[in-house]
Amino acid sequence: MEKKDIKSLTLEELKAEMAAAGEKSFRAAQLYEWMHRKLSRSFKEMTNIPLAMKEKCGESYHYTALQTAAVQESAIDGTKKYLFALSDGNMVESVWMRYKHGNSVCISSQAGCRMGCRFCASTLGGLVRNLTPSEMLDQIYAITLETGERVSNVVLMGSGEPLDNYENLLRFITLLTDENGLHISQRNVTVSTCGIVPAMRSLAQEKLQITLALSLHAATDEKRRELMPIANQYSLAELMDCCAYYFEQTGRRITFEYSLVRNVNDTRKDAETLAALIRGLNCHVNLIPVNPVRERDYVQSERQAVEAFAAILEKKGINATVRREMGRDIDGACGQLRRRFLDNSPAGTKMNGKSG
Ligand code: SAH
Repeated sequence: MEKKDIKSLTLEELKAEMAAAGEKSFRAAQLYEWMHRKLSRSFKEMTNIPLAMKEKCGESYHYTALQTAAVQESAIDGTKKYLFALSDGNMVESVWMRYKHGNSVCISSQAGCRMGCRFCASTLGGLVRNLTPSEMLDQIYAITLETGERVSNVVLMGSGEPLDNYENLLRFITLLTDENGLHISQRNVTVSTCGIVPAMRSLAQEKLQITLALSLHAATDEKRRELMPIANQYSLAELMDCCAYYFEQTGRRITFEYSLVRNVNDTRKDAETLAALIRGLNCHVNLIPVNPVRERDYVQSERQAVEAFAAILEKKGINATVRREMGRDIDGACGQLRRRFLDNSPAGTKMNGKSG
């Protein structure tokens, strides 16, 4: 029988488990505190739990504790990129960024991805598997321990499509924002999606106070289909309807992500079409110069084009920011560190923490 994943259980569920196992009721709260507050890496560390109980827990439950396989630190801005090994040997990556308003962690929601976006490195090998709630959480826990600093913001913008792993995502958010755990405010959690409309509608109905970021990247169906296969499934008209619905249900302003690719989606005309598309929506646009990926031939927009693009949006009354590029010197783009590892691993090359 497969062992239950104890770090993915809510406190209520853990209480029920302990009751069923004939343990005293306060044991659930103790275990939960060790896992989600003290960020313990194993049952062994739990000093106020009797040895016999720890052994029994070890037999009944799987304890998620990611192993750090590599860390790269940016010499420019201190951004750190982590490569973590899961218990089955799969690898995921996460990024730690220090901002004035606090530390932010970007986590992965899947090993690989099946969305196939043309400019993205995470999807090159397809989807390997969904991450469990505890594997999403533990990226944050491991980084908190390693840096010794509190994480205040969490963004799901690493590898994977969070809404393609919907139930685990919701459970992850519940645990992350739980007052008995790290207690990160929902408002400091951002979920980024390529635009799976039915899942976005379900999420709207959860009425969470998280930020939803939609990866738009193009303002016409034709262009979007060239960049993102998901656009063949849902039209921009459907997506915009869905964004309006999301705002209606949650009162939360949508963030549109728009990666600028030279001569592909960065002309004045593109900016005007985008402005017309999202006019009237309560939103914010994040412009991101595309991060070149080795396997793809997309090139970053010129600085001037980026600025002109932002200026057109602003003139039309649309709030836009050009995203500061963090960690440019350490394989900044999604999925690149993991790719490098996968490329190297058959030859047995070990990561040495340096970027090349
Ligand atoms: N699957 C989700 C979240 C992961 S990607 C999504 O599609 O939103 C996080 C963001 O990075 C998305 O906006 C994605 O389109 C963008 N992205 C991926 N590869 C990129 C690259 N090479 N350069 C710039 N942005 C990229």
